[in-house]
Amino acid sequence: MKILVAVKRVIDYNVKVRVKSDQSDVDLSNVKMALNPFCEIAVEEAVRLKEKGVAEEVVVVSIGPKACQEQIRTALALGADRGIHVEADAMPDSLAVAKLLGKIVAEEAPQLVILGKQSIDSDNNQTGQMLAALTDMPQGTFASEVVVDGDKVQVTREVDGGLQTVELTLPAIVTTDLRLNEPRYASLPNIMKAKRKPLDVKTPEDLGVDIASKVSVLKVAAPAERSAGIKVADIAELVEKLKNEAKVL
Ligand code: AMP
Repeated sequence: MKILVAVKRVIDYNVKVRVKSDQSDVDLSNVKMALNPFCEIAVEEAVRLKEKGVAEEVVVVSIGPKACQEQIRTALALGADRGIHVEADAMPDSLAVAKLLGKIVAEEAPQLVILGKQSIDSDNNQTGQMLAALTDMPQGTFASEVVVDGDKVQVTREVDGGLQTVELTLPAIVTTDLRLNEPRYASLPNIMKAKRKPLDVKTPEDLGVDIASKVSVLKVAAPAERSAGIKVADIAELVEKLKNEAKVL
């Protein structure tokens, strides 16, 4: 079995995001970037399937500027076998990413494609679903457990109010939720080894995909600042303030 994992370069989750002064976008200058946490979980799941002998090869693909190769190398250090970088000047929107991934799926013919459920920068939660629609593959989204059994995969999905288990016929698409696994840290020897693993570079033109966006961002704004709280002396004062100042009672 070959597993394809899609990994996205995003702002590190520890960084406090700043908005550009002209509100055109988030300010990425001198900001630490990292592998999207849900993609890290996707890589971990694929590597575990390889370690269990269920899969033979784990291929990671990332789409975007040249710097995305850093995140591909991270995934290789975590145990993936080879990388594919589809180089684009800017980060394409979800539909373009899904179309490019569709072409890579057609070339590579993986039995399982694992994506994160969501990128923590754009919070789209749609690329896996779009890829499923474009490739006509079954999808198991928000996975908290993945069990491959012959030509089927059982995916336990985190849905509102509980868990739903679905069975998909391979080849299939899975998107990862937070509780699927706890990703390992890359060891120094594995980081060194990852530098020598194969990394193929392609362009959207090579894949015959027009990545011109049909979505334009009109404005990016930071969330409203929360004003400082106050301490009240007793419950009577709290009720009085809730009634007369906040007017919520
Ligand atoms: P999104 O739909 O943007 O929330 O992203 C969901 C998942 O799609 C991510 O966790 C990745 O697995 C994949 N994905 C999104 N954008 C990219 C990209 N530029 N390159 C590779 N994978 C991506």
